[in-house]
Amino acid sequence: MHLVGGDLALDFVNTQTGPADGPVDGDALDGYDDLLSWSRQMGTMGERQAEALALIAQARPATASAAFRKAVGARSYLREIFATLARQQEPSASMLDLLRGDAASSVRYARLARTAEGFGWDWAICDDLRAPLWPVIQAAVDLMRSGPVTSVKQCGACRFLFVDTSKNGSRRWCSMEDCGKTAKMRRYVARRSVSRASARAGRP
Ligand SMILES: [Zn+2]
Repeated sequence: MHLVGGDLALDFVNTQTGPADGPVDGDALDGYDDLLSWSRQMGTMGERQAEALALIAQARPATASAAFRKAVGARSYLREIFATLARQQEPSASMLDLLRGDAASSVRYARLARTAEGFGWDWAICDDLRAPLWPVIQAAVDLMRSGPVTSVKQCGACRFLFVDTSKNGSRRWCSMEDCGKTAKMRRYVARRSVSRASARAGRP
């Protein structure tokens, strides 16, 4: 799992991989259980809650697959909203409305729990199968409210979104190890072939 988003909502969107402008070529979420594993890995859900939800999902497969469809549907509109912001355009009112609707539901299932600094929404005792989605929705709302949304960017080579926290806002790649390295290599190969071509052209 590549966690390059710097934000829970963007990491959720980044569970789908693919080139920057091409089709999706991979998906880490293939069913309801994947959603639970992802939440466990991200630390948004404890082991006991994940086990309890897995049991409920087994007993109610139709509800579980509806919850899964709901989550991947939310992933699509979150992708649309944040990719639009990354292009420095305004997301459509209909997309914002979808987020607002889910944010309202997420609060309905939350309780206000003490945190170190104050209080925060907490879904630890939520037994609704959509529970894995709610922290993601709140993270998206937090990112939209506190931003700065101008720091949301898309990788120059793939579909990953991230929050650019670099000092001069110059981050272009999801990670230097992946897309950054590939781009560097391409530039190097291009430069070398240009210099070879000009060397050949210079020959008598
Ligand atoms: Zn990338």
